[in-house]
Amino acid sequence: MLTVEASAVSVEGRLAAGDLCCPCCAGVLAGWGWARERVVRGPGGRLTRLRPRRARCRACKVTHVLLAVLALARRADAAEVVGAALAAAARGAGFRLAAAGLGRPPETVRGWLRRFAGRAEAVRVFFTALAAAAGPDPVMPAAAGSPVADAVAAIAAAAVAVAARWPELGEVPVWQAASAASGGLLLAPGWPPAGRNTS
Ligand SMILES: [Zn+2]
Repeated sequence: MLTVEASAVSVEGRLAAGDLCCPCCAGVLAGWGWARERVVRGPGGRLTRLRPRRARCRACKVTHVLLAVLALARRADAAEVVGAALAAAARGAGFRLAAAGLGRPPETVRGWLRRFAGRAEAVRVFFTALAAAAGPDPVMPAAAGSPVADAVAAIAAAAVAVAARWPELGEVPVWQAASAASGGLLLAPGWPPAGRNTS
């Protein structure tokens, strides 16, 4: 899986131009049908239908789903909504309070927070490395008081560093940047991979 911008027109243009690279071998991706439609629940419960493009690598022949950055793999809620819950937890809110603020079921939000808390240190390390790689002079977050808060602070620092390094990306919302940097896998099993670089 690979994350791409939300605009389908722009994704088609990049596929046609040979501008998207295979995450396995860096070969050029070509369009290869579409994945099953999914519905993503955004802030305020607004629903967005996505029909992710599928692409196949011309070199290694592996197919990849091009997931829009507003979504996360295997999550029905938008990255921005999940991120708001994680940010609330970073400020000390429990799952019930975070869920009430977002109008989401407490059990759902508890699942996000548990998954994130279980990988908070690995997430912090991943995004701190990303901020450093985007450099040259990233503002490194100070210790925020809990592993979850430190991880959320590192994500925010990485988003700032990436925006400063590549201004042509325009303003990328923090949690869309987090989705993009994690390949949509922020809360998926097996992420972040140990030792993988963050290019
Ligand atoms: Zn490939």
